[in-house]
Amino acid sequence: MAAVSKGEGGGDMAQFIAAMPKAEYHVHLEGTLEAEMKFALARRNEVKLPYADVAAMKRSYVFHDLPTFLKVYYEGMNVLLREQDFYDLCYAYLAKAHASNVIYAEMFFDPQQHIDRGVPIADVIGGITRARAAAQADMGIESQLILCFMRDLTASNAMNALDAALPYKEQLVGVGLDSDEKDNPPSKFAAHFAKARDAGLRITAHCDVNQKDSLEHIRQALIDIGVERIDHGGNILQSPELVALARQRNIAFTVCPSFSGKIVVDGKPVDVVRAMLDQGLKVTINSDDPAYMGSKYLTEVIIDTQARSGLTKAELVRISRNAFDAAWVAPDRRDRFQAKLDAFARKWAVAT
Ligand SMILES: [Zn+2]
Repeated sequence: MAAVSKGEGGGDMAQFIAAMPKAEYHVHLEGTLEAEMKFALARRNEVKLPYADVAAMKRSYVFHDLPTFLKVYYEGMNVLLREQDFYDLCYAYLAKAHASNVIYAEMFFDPQQHIDRGVPIADVIGGITRARAAAQADMGIESQLILCFMRDLTASNAMNALDAALPYKEQLVGVGLDSDEKDNPPSKFAAHFAKARDAGLRITAHCDVNQKDSLEHIRQALIDIGVERIDHGGNILQSPELVALARQRNIAFTVCPSFSGKIVVDGKPVDVVRAMLDQGLKVTINSDDPAYMGSKYLTEVIIDTQARSGLTKAELVRISRNAFDAAWVAPDRRDRFQAKLDAFARKWAVAT
């Protein structure tokens, strides 16, 4: 049995991380739209882009905060018009995820952005569903789909999207909440979450880091809405009461360290992944919007996080186990994922 010490790195660590079976739950499909694909789709759909080439477009990816990121992000979606576009987008992500040894993914999408541009939701969900089936047949990667409410649009706009999507609920596993959090608390969508739950869908919500009212939003998500996961959620570390509640309820945190890896607790900077692990929270590592974050997909994100957070191989296996535990699947399917991770840990002689 190989001994593992805190902070080990280098050597075969990158190889270990690349080979580890993984799950990913915090990835926005629209955030995987690479500049190269944007240009290809723009040509196919005869959409004019405000950039001369891929390099110029990538140079525009400079973000100071959530609103400046979202502006570029939503602009980029204008090339997604037809069912085939959503197929191509989703298949490309699943191929990249498969290359990172992701064996199971639950992916977000933002239907309101597409419906409001006149794209029928049947084409959005249809293209994604077709790609999921093709990727599973071609590569073995399994996936499900989570519909996100855009919290900075009106409650009625989100309700219209939910109503439009419910006839396709067999293609969805859950609902979430994303976009600009400022003055858009989870409680604004209480009726939407209740309706989705009644329809048999699972519940998660973004609680981005260092937002106005971060802790109150986490409290609402946990207590008033009753989420099963929190996307990001690092500020919970500022509240021992909420940490205890999340632990008791076995809430999974889909942390995206490239974007939300640090917060301040009692005046000191704290590494979110390290602190969540140490406090017994069910932390997972995710890529969020990789096309806008240096095109780093899950293996590269975990390699960066391992170095930054000083993660051991045993801790990396624990994080992957957390993710499979949190999968919204039947127990036998979850056991199958965990068995793959167990076999990997045995092969690398990692005690878990
Ligand atoms: Zn996100």
